[in-house]
This record gives sequence, C-alpha cells and structure tokens, in this order.
Amino acid sequence: MAKNIAILGSTGSIGVQALDVAKNLGIKVSGLSANSNIELLEKQAREFNPRIISTGTRELADKLNEKLDGLGIEILFGIDGMKKVAAVPETDSVVTSVVGIAGLIPTLEAIRNHKNIALANKETLVTAGSIVIEEAKRNNAAIFPVDSEHSAIYQCLNGNRHQDVKQLILTASGGPFRGRRRESLENVKAADALKHPNWKMGNKITIDSATLMNKGLEVIEAKWLFNMEPDKIKVVIHPQSIIHSMVEYIDGSVMAQLGSPDMKIPIQLALTFPERAGNDFSRLDLLKCGALTFEVPDMEAFPCLGLAFEALKEGGSMPAAMNAANEAAVGLFLKDGIRFTDIPRIIEKIMQKHSVNTKPGLDDIIETDRWARNTVGGLV
Ligand code: NDP
Ligand code: MG
Repeated sequence: MAKNIAILGSTGSIGVQALDVAKNLGIKVSGLSANSNIELLEKQAREFNPRIISTGTRELADKLNEKLDGLGIEILFGIDGMKKVAAVPETDSVVTSVVGIAGLIPTLEAIRNHKNIALANKETLVTAGSIVIEEAKRNNAAIFPVDSEHSAIYQCLNGNRHQDVKQLILTASGGPFRGRRRESLENVKAADALKHPNWKMGNKITIDSATLMNKGLEVIEAKWLFNMEPDKIKVVIHPQSIIHSMVEYIDGSVMAQLGSPDMKIPIQLALTFPERAGNDFSRLDLLKCGALTFEVPDMEAFPCLGLAFEALKEGGSMPAAMNAANEAAVGLFLKDGIRFTDIPRIIEKIMQKHSVNTKPGLDDIIETDRWARNTVGGLV
C-alpha cells in the first residue's frame, strides 16, 4: 500500500479522483502538478499541504507564490517543475495523470527515482513503451495500471503463467457514436463527441473514445504492460462498461473483472496492490445492471482502431508519430478547426509520411512527436 504519493496532473479528471482516494485511505500527498488551473491547484495545496507543487508557466507559479505565501510550499513550473514533483524524496508512488506525451518525461523521472507508478497517462507507453518498461525494470519500479481495462487484465493475470495466455480481450463502450455509419459522422461537432455514455473524463480522452483511438492507444498500452504480441490482443465492444476486460487462457477459461464504471476503483487498486481496501464507491448490482452485450468493433466507421494496430505492428517510432498526429488532430477538432472524420484521415497521412526509426531513443521519440505535430500543422 502506498504511504506517500505525488500526483502529476492533479487538477484533471483522474487527478481529482486520485486525491479523493488518497484522502479516504489516509495517504499523504507530497507533490502536485497542474498546467493552468491554478485556482484548483491552490485549493488542493491548502487541503493536502504538499511539499512541492508545479504549474505550466513561471507567471502562474509567481501568482501561486503570492497566494500561498507563508505555507512553506515550494512552487515550481514547467517540465523541470514536474520532474521535481515526480522525484520528491519521501514519496513511494507517483500517479501519472497528465494528458498526452507531456507525461512522458516526468514519468521517466519518477521511475529513475525508484517510485512505483500508478499509470493513467497511457501516452507514456504508447510513445516510448520499450524505453519506459526497460527503465522500470532497471530501477525496480512497479507500474500499476489505472486504466480500467488494464487494471482488469492485471487482476485476471494475477497468479497465472504468461505462457498460458491465449489472448487479452479489451472491452470498449463504443462511445457516443456506436452504431453510426462513417458518412453520418462527417458533420458531428465536438460538443456531440464530448457526450460519453458511461464515463466522465477529460476532453482529449473523451474524443479518443468517440473515434475509438482510445481503444487503439490501450491496445498498445497492453502490449507493453503485459508483454503481449499484437495478434494476441483483441477488442470487443461492450456498451454497458461492466466487464472491464478479460483474459482467455489456452485451456478455454476466460477470466473477467467486473465492476461499476467508477475510475476510483482502479485508481485505488493501483495504490493498494496487492492489498485491497474497503470504500463507499459505487458498487455493481448484477440484478439491476441489465443484460451485458457484445459486438464486433466497426473499423470502417472508426478507422483509428485499425491505424493503432498498424502502428503497433510497424513498431519503432510509428506509435509516437501516430500519437502526436492524434493529439494535434484532436486539439484542432476540439476548436472546431477540422471535421470529426478528418481525425483518422490526418493520422493516416502522417503515418504514410513517417519514415520509421526501428530503435528510437528518447530524443528520437521527442523529435518524431515534434515532426508529426508540425506536419499536421502544414496539412491543415
Ligand atoms: P484531464 O484533461 O482531465 O486532466 C489532465 C491533467 O493534466 C490536468 O491536471 C492538466 O492541468 C494537466 N495537463 C494538461 N496538459 C498538460 C501539460 N502540457 N503539461 C502539464 N500538465 C498538463 O485528463 P484526464 O484526467 O481525463 O486524463 C489523464 C490521463 O489519464 C490521460 O492520459 C488519459 O488517457 C488517462 N485516462 C483517463 C481516464 C479518465 O477516466 N479520465 C481513464 C483512463 C485513462 P490543468 O487542469 O491545469 O489543465
Ligand atoms: Mg480505459
């Protein structure tokens, strides 16, 4: 069980819930970071009294310094600030709930400081999975998944042998546009895509859920977390989000993990594993949840899932290029700068243009990210 944590991205959907979980469990919080929401960060700092906090810019850090004067909290900014938050000496675990590749460098810093990771920021593994997993092994840092699907698989794998796994089956809700054909998605607006049926999440992941890129990112995340070949990872649409994912074994047994769709459950487990702790979170009532149904994902209407499988098979720097194209395209879509259906078109173009580096180092990953974003800018 974690005793003292830091949270990167504490003002986001996962960050706020992680603080709730920490409060329930009596876990001390020694570091917090946010990008621009300093009102909430100030409130969190007053409540949890961390040693270090960090914001996106020097200007915001100065403002917070005035407001929190006299509390003895060190207030930093930028990437170096996040790295300090990731490395606070007294913490044992770091919750990584920054959105996007911005989470990569501070997560690596936490690992290099031997922290266990409660990993929400899937883009870290999508862009630099092999580097991150190697560093975690070298530094004896455990990575506990927060993503509900991976938390489910982690639990279903527990106590079994890797060679006995036939396949991982990731479930997907299908998002707000499930059942719609590609032509009908041409004119949907960001506001429509932001209405997720089962989960309340940050804007970027909510759009990723509508395009099914979220599931694509999760397939890549699963490859790295569980050391699984791409052809052993399947996706099935399960609109009720009750079964969070499954593992099929060679003997025909299928293990599933079920629960009410509440992210606090996997966040808590990532901080208590292998122990469990009681709580008053929402609970699953099988007699009330209705029928559980399953469908094949529609790769024609939602090409992002197929693109992610392609990027994974291609390997090297390709997933980083795909991820950057997606982050840039989703950013544009959220400002109504492109159509919903342009998102996969842009990602596919970037993947076609990208010459893969088969064994990228961290600098190559960052350069690929920069190149892909610039190239998206040039396309639009
Ligand atoms: P949010 O957008 O709600 O929160 C993002 C957090 O990161 C905020 O604290 C934000 O600060 C901070 N942040 C954003 N951009 C930067 C940046 N460039 N540099 C530093 N900090 C930054 O996202 P979510 O909580 O929804 O998601 C976080 C991660 O968890 C994502 O990778 C997502 O895929 C993953 N995840 C989320 C789930 C969910 O239910 N929400 C489920 C499974 C995984 P500020 O508030 O100041 O902008
Ligand atoms: Mg998920």
